Amino acid sequence: MSQYVYFFGGGKADGNKDMKDILGGKGSGLAEMTNAGVPVPPGFTISTQACNAYYDSGGKLPAEVDQQTDAALAKLEALQGKKLGNAKDPLLVSVRSGSKFSMPGMMDTILNLGMNDQSVEGVKAKTGNGRFAKDSYRRFIQMYGNVVLGIDKDKFEHELTAIKKKYKAKTDVELGEKALDEVIARYKVVVEKNTHHPFPQDPREQLVGARDAVFESWMNPRAITYRKLNDIPHNLGTAVNVQTMVFGNMGDTSATGVGFTRNPSTGAKEFYGEFLQNAQGEDVVAGIRTPHPIADLEKVMPKAYRQLRDITTRLERHYKDVQDFEFTIQENTLYMLQTRNGKRTGLAAINIAVDMCEEGVLTKKEALLKVEPQALDQLLHPIFDPKARTSVPVAAKGLPASPGAATGAVVFTAEDAVAWAQKGKKVLLVRMETVPDDIHGMSVAQGILTATGGMTSHAAVVGRQMGKPSVVGCGALDINAKAKTMKVAGKVVREGDPVSIDGSTGEVMLAAVPTSASEVIQVVEGKLKPEKSVIYQKFEKLLGWADEVRRLGIRANADVPKDAKVAFGFGARGIGLCRTEHMFFGAERLPHVVKMILSAARGQRGLDLTRRLKEQLKEAKGHRAMEIRKEIAKVQKELGKYIKDYTTALKKLEPMQKADFAGLFKEMHGSPVTIRTLDPPLHEFLPKREELMVEIAILKTKSATKNKRAIETKEKLLRAVEELHEFNPMLGHRGCRLGITYPELTKMQARAIFEAALQVAKKGIPVKPEVMIPLVGHVEELKRQKAIVIEAAKEVLGKGSGVEYTVGTMIEVPRGAVTADEIAKEAEFFSFGTNDLTQMGFGLSRDDAGKFLLYYLEHGLLEKDPFITLDASGVGILVEIGVKKGRSVKPKLKIGVCGEHGGDPGSIRFFHKVGLDYVSCSPYRVPIARLAAAQAQLEQPVSD
Ligand code: ADP
Ligand code: MG
Ligand code: MG
Repeated sequence: MSQYVYFFGGGKADGNKDMKDILGGKGSGLAEMTNAGVPVPPGFTISTQACNAYYDSGGKLPAEVDQQTDAALAKLEALQGKKLGNAKDPLLVSVRSGSKFSMPGMMDTILNLGMNDQSVEGVKAKTGNGRFAKDSYRRFIQMYGNVVLGIDKDKFEHELTAIKKKYKAKTDVELGEKALDEVIARYKVVVEKNTHHPFPQDPREQLVGARDAVFESWMNPRAITYRKLNDIPHNLGTAVNVQTMVFGNMGDTSATGVGFTRNPSTGAKEFYGEFLQNAQGEDVVAGIRTPHPIADLEKVMPKAYRQLRDITTRLERHYKDVQDFEFTIQENTLYMLQTRNGKRTGLAAINIAVDMCEEGVLTKKEALLKVEPQALDQLLHPIFDPKARTSVPVAAKGLPASPGAATGAVVFTAEDAVAWAQKGKKVLLVRMETVPDDIHGMSVAQGILTATGGMTSHAAVVGRQMGKPSVVGCGALDINAKAKTMKVAGKVVREGDPVSIDGSTGEVMLAAVPTSASEVIQVVEGKLKPEKSVIYQKFEKLLGWADEVRRLGIRANADVPKDAKVAFGFGARGIGLCRTEHMFFGAERLPHVVKMILSAARGQRGLDLTRRLKEQLKEAKGHRAMEIRKEIAKVQKELGKYIKDYTTALKKLEPMQKADFAGLFKEMHGSPVTIRTLDPPLHEFLPKREELMVEIAILKTKSATKNKRAIETKEKLLRAVEELHEFNPMLGHRGCRLGITYPELTKMQARAIFEAALQVAKKGIPVKPEVMIPLVGHVEELKRQKAIVIEAAKEVLGKGSGVEYTVGTMIEVPRGAVTADEIAKEAEFFSFGTNDLTQMGFGLSRDDAGKFLLYYLEHGLLEKDPFITLDASGVGILVEIGVKKGRSVKPKLKIGVCGEHGGDPGSIRFFHKVGLDYVSCSPYRVPIARLAAAQAQLEQPVSD
């Protein structure tokens, strides 16, 4: 028989902290705390397997679930000495959702279950507190009505507001027992009207209804959206926790609150949280009443406060992580209701990991595993430009819930945020308070600003988790969501107006404030001294630990010295890919490039013919020699102009390329620099056919005679564009195929590389050029290109220059991967070009996939975009074959990857596992790659 129900209570629990899969995060936390002797109201957890069974059988549950639930309930009743539904002294419970990964506010919870017309009187008699009893009952009807019976929340709020008005009460705390009786009566009418049934009085029926509603909430649209945004699988299911109620709403010696053991926004070591007196659960997070800072709890309930600090400090050490906890104090007695590892911003993650390691709570290795690599990116986001910042007045101040600078056009609803964002607008989402339904709007906004709620409100929690700048609880905002306006500091702000928020200070400015680079980037770019930036120091400390652990080398893809400098500053030790063509687009170069392209085919043919004839001439005599000379003259006459154009263009480009390469060598301080010979199809350097046609037409209508020369030039260009047209450019005349057909091109590039190397080496800076031939599918391609490179090296370097170089290839054509053993005979290194390998291996055109790839992802045909995370089970096999075959010929063959995947943590794990030597990624992803590579080694050690 399978176990579906797990009990906790009386100092012992069936579960523990390692059972999140089965019990969900909340259930496993309650079990662990119970076992650790922390005061937790007892109860039981119905497992996620029951949820999955519920979905598998279309809403039915195995009989065992009911049997085990009955048994657990009986055990709970015995332990508490109370019975569910008893008229005199009833057991009351909460029914709480909780899946493996926390999804704040996404699913449903019901409090005070077991209340009915009789038991409410029992509670009143037993506690002598009629107000409390009635308040609990009206909350139960409201929650059950909404969650289980599907009645709109507003319908209940409407009645509550009416009664508040009648009794002139500002908040619901001011409503007395009599008023609450009226609320209950009105609520019951709401239920009757909407369901055509009276409010269910049978506690068993209530329990089953609540349990199934929790299961159902797993598949509600907002939960589904949330899981999509956070990469959480849909098949995990949720557990249901049934737990004895404790009451924070029994008067002023009672309270409820939430908190963190450290500041989740900055990571500072400070006890952090909020509470409300005389309130129940959701009141704190819902942002309806603005709660008090937890420090004030010390004043009103000193004993409970000290106990809370003590317990949470122990929990932090026990879990070796920041704890995010919920508690309730019932008449001065403290109960813990939840604990979990706290979500945090990237900044906080780094500070906390480094601090906890230095406090001796974590080892370096444990600290490394605490930081999500992707979160490092947040430290690179821009901040407000300090100078510009001082000239803009602060209009209002709220709580700094999630750091960072955000500017955008104001929108007042999540729907508008999405609609505006789809039009390419940057928006700032302003809400009274956010609710779980808002997440799609939050995810597209630059930042989030709310008028109510505290540092643990929904907006704050979700904002931090998304790494979005957020300011919450900004009371000075007078929002009119219907009219899409707000009043701040005497000004009216309308939808679309620019507003800036500083999530680090809580400041709100009614203007678009310019931003500047983050502190970390300023240090990396050499504009700020490392000792001036605490953030940078922590960042580098953590990454230094990563460097001690990781096996993979980290390089960057950089084409110009400026990027190389940034990459080196971020810790890249080598360039894995320099795309030489990027340098061709410079304004002073493009004309020469165009000239070279226009003359390449005929120019190269002319050169080849002349060379061949001259060879023949050496052997020939007399009449034959005369004939050959005539032929040479003929070639010169026909093709001489092209030869000249071709060779002069190349000559012009050579020194320019040389200067670029020299810059790269210098910035890399002796680390290897891999330079790829020309790769893209040549038409990419020419204007578009349609554009040229339009331009010519315009010139002709203006004046065909006056514009004769211009028209001729453009028509020539048009002919060249048409000649170069390909049906399938990605599979066309590109990569090494260019260098094969136009060997002068490869020669020029190789010469520029070696000239640059020589120049830099002469200054005493070590250089390590690696020449990389792209798109090799057949060993013969590499062999021929390599010969040209070696010849250029001989010419330029001569003997005894001391400059050492290697020649290798990209493996990016499937045929290259499967014949890697052949290719390895000629190659001194491999670098996987996983962009093209995915494109060709998967048969997915990168430029056209947008149209259907999204469908594939949304409909679950593919879990991840294969251009972002390497398709390990398909394209990855090609990589594995390439590695195996390559190393079967050269066991020490150096192998790296230079596709976009080199900066993706999931793909890095794969590259680590298959034994690559390094990954190369864009400069800004270098920190992510360093950490991801260390985590890969910690999770799955691979030795060299
Ligand atoms: P969420 O996952 O949305 O936080 P919870 O299940 O944690 O939902 O419950 C919502 C609120 O109700 C929390 O503030 C929690 O502390 C409170 N709560 C849940 N169960 C109980 C209980 N047995 N007694 C008192 N308060 C409870
Ligand atoms: Mg909770
Ligand atoms: Mg490629």
